[in-house]
Amino acid sequence: MFFAVLYVGFALASMAITRFVLPGLGVGRVLDPRPLNPRQVRREIALSALSVLIFGVGLLVPWVLVQNGWAEVTLQVPVWRVLAECVVLLLWNDLHFYLHHRLLHHRLLFQRFHLPHHRSVVTTPWSTYAFHPVEAVLLGSVLIVPMLLWSFSLAALVALPILSLTYNSLGHANYQALPVGWRWLSNARSHHLHHACFRGNYGFLFTFMDRWFGTTLPDDAADDVISLGLERAGSTRSDRFSAG
Ligand SMILES: [Zn+2]
Ligand SMILES: [Zn+2]
Repeated sequence: MFFAVLYVGFALASMAITRFVLPGLGVGRVLDPRPLNPRQVRREIALSALSVLIFGVGLLVPWVLVQNGWAEVTLQVPVWRVLAECVVLLLWNDLHFYLHHRLLHHRLLFQRFHLPHHRSVVTTPWSTYAFHPVEAVLLGSVLIVPMLLWSFSLAALVALPILSLTYNSLGHANYQALPVGWRWLSNARSHHLHHACFRGNYGFLFTFMDRWFGTTLPDDAADDVISLGLERAGSTRSDRFSAG
């Protein structure tokens, strides 16, 4: 229920913000204007429902760690410590995501385990959890190593999925809301380029991993493929019109 509420709530909020609020204020722009694939959103929601189930059942792992004394969760901690732990967990999340994401782009793994996420070439807030179950298990394991190394506060452990899903939902909303100059933050533009080009920009919240490993895509990386897609969509529409 926790992940389902987060997924649906943030997807609806992202849609409201990027379809109505920001365009109404004249802030930002749609990143990829190509049409969505037919039945795309229905497929994304079905795959995401499976991921929600996997993430929910996966919470048993930290529970088992705590029950057996292999990890500890602290309850009464000062706010500064919760904030510091959130920063550490967000940085770890980027490292964990980048390594697993690059692994999933290996030619032996991509087709089988990561293509389901990339079938959303133009992303929507519903693409956020649209993973193959193996990818959901890999990404859902993010808290295990930190919990074995440090007694994190419950607040920071709960904050990580909330913060990352907020960002992930906006990151898949296909809308450039942040200033283009914020290069340190992997904004929606970075992840839209990853989906449009099927490579590069593998990071999650920050861009430091892509810069360190030389996998940053240039801003115009998807211009040609988007122009071609729009031309094809236009000719298909006019074919249908003349046939009708
Ligand atoms: Zn990918
Ligand atoms: Zn994505």
